[in-house]
Amino acid sequence: MEHTIKLHDRHFRVMIPAAEIDKAVAAVAARINEDYKDKETPLFVGVLNGSFMFMSDLIKKIEFNSELSFVKLASYEGTATTGDVKCLIGLNNSLEGRHVIIVEDIVDTGVSIERMVRDLERLRPASIAVCTLFFKPNSYRKQIPIEYKALEIGNEFIVGYGLDYDQLGRNLKDIYVVTD
Ligand code: 5GP
Ligand code: MG
Repeated sequence: MEHTIKLHDRHFRVMIPAAEIDKAVAAVAARINEDYKDKETPLFVGVLNGSFMFMSDLIKKIEFNSELSFVKLASYEGTATTGDVKCLIGLNNSLEGRHVIIVEDIVDTGVSIERMVRDLERLRPASIAVCTLFFKPNSYRKQIPIEYKALEIGNEFIVGYGLDYDQLGRNLKDIYVVTD
């Protein structure tokens, strides 16, 4: 029987082994190295929590001087009437005039990344590019260009390598897909 793991109530099997993820990360890093080699100190902005492992491997393959920061979209807890308003926390760097590369774990419908790009645009960076580990082309319905996609998948639900199923599975070094 095929090896499966259990997270909460669901079973998962390996879909993309670590070696294949590493190759995809190397390929996307090579493109970024080429595109940004003459740009003034680019800033990588990782979106927590999902992107931490991708960012860690990606940044080790970057050959130009760069800065790194992480942000989180948190629910705004000001007044009861703005319960679904999200705000960006954790950004210490001034983005004005900077070349920003947003690092995401996965772009699905695009709602989250569109929100992130719009928020960061207001801080007047010189440029913004999106780099995502996974892209779901059949699900994406936004116009924001996604310049760097390490891997494209269907609409299946995946976990591992930073991605979670209800907070479990982020530690896994392979990517797993749900089987039931
Ligand atoms: P979007 O706003 O693009 O629809 O969704 C992006 C977010 O949905 C991701 O940051 C991630 O939290 C979650 N997501 C979408 N697809 C998957 C998936 O296959 N696995 C996991 N673990 N999260 C996903
Ligand atoms: Mg995410």
